Amino acid sequence: MTEEHSNAWAAEAIRRVREGGPHVTPTPLRPLSLPAIRGIDIYLKDESAHPTGSMKYRLVRAMFCEAIASGAITADRPVIAATSGAVAVAGAHFASLLGLDFTAVVPARTAAEVLARIEGEGGRWQVGEQPPAAVQEEARALAERLGGHFLDHFTDVERAMAVSGEPTIADEIFVQLNGEPHPVPEWIVAGAGTGATSAAVGRHLRRMGHPTRLAVVDPENSAYFPAWASGCGDYTTGMPSRIPGIGRPRIEPGFLPAVIDLMIPVPDAASIAALRWLRTAAGIEAGPATGTNLWGVCHLAARMSEAGVHGSIVTVIGDTADPYLNTHLDPSWVRARGLDPAPYEADIERFVRTGYWPAGQHPA
Ligand SMILES: *Cc1c(COP(=O)(O)O)cnc(C)c1O
Repeated sequence: MTEEHSNAWAAEAIRRVREGGPHVTPTPLRPLSLPAIRGIDIYLKDESAHPTGSMKYRLVRAMFCEAIASGAITADRPVIAATSGAVAVAGAHFASLLGLDFTAVVPARTAAEVLARIEGEGGRWQVGEQPPAAVQEEARALAERLGGHFLDHFTDVERAMAVSGEPTIADEIFVQLNGEPHPVPEWIVAGAGTGATSAAVGRHLRRMGHPTRLAVVDPENSAYFPAWASGCGDYTTGMPSRIPGIGRPRIEPGFLPAVIDLMIPVPDAASIAALRWLRTAAGIEAGPATGTNLWGVCHLAARMSEAGVHGSIVTVIGDTADPYLNTHLDPSWVRARGLDPAPYEADIERFVRTGYWPAGQHPA
């Protein structure tokens, strides 16, 4: 292929990835009504509205745009990812849009539903070697063997977000808050998986000089909170997170602790309690990481309320509920993992009714 040709392919490919199909841009910003919490407006940025049902759509879109622009994704080269989750579904979606082959190397015991969704987007999958961490290396080797591009989200997505010129979640939030009673939020609350979303928010706040602070919620078994609290950048836990999408056993390269004002460790049972409350009381269908976010929002809203501060708090609906109907949303699955959300559910119910927030400490 001549250079002109490949440039023309790239420009057309980026155009297609940007358009992405019939989707909602920007994703909706939904108010969450908590009448007992006076003077504090809560908004949920609904990233589950993306065509693949997850905020990973935005991240993978930026990675495709940047990889095409820098010549790493070209016509006829396959794309390979290493993940059991939403990155693979979004990767398959964009590869198929460009007519490229896509293979996800997935850990053993990946849920059949996820595999079906990868296939549904036109992708293939193969089960990688044990342990789960080896999947990354296997995908890299497969990409080399096939002459393809390894979509390495933990290493590349944060930079891709920063340079791709694609709208970040923060760009959209501030435009959408225009005209609201508190258009500059007191807090934005997010979880960290790759760290790219919290990094994009933190960068935006600094560039624009907003007084908004960034809080990152962190589930059990994650290295992020202890690393942030101790300043120890090579902290590892060796344990996987039970909240899909967030919490990592080690510090990933995209995580930018310097832009985070507060990290909030959230017990897994509290994440599930908040997830249940969203579903049954607020009618919001979301995944477990959204429960973690909501727990952080309650904590901050209580702090603002105590200090007599009025304002807004924005957090994220990171993915849809349907992949979790047989796991986190199934009480017997939750019980089998030794998690008891009931006391935390009582905390949330009391908070939304009365504005009273206990420290939320319950024995595991
Ligand atoms: C990936 C993910 C996050 C974290 O986003 P990063 O930008 O990777 O840090 C949060 N929630 C959900 C549901 C996710 O899938």
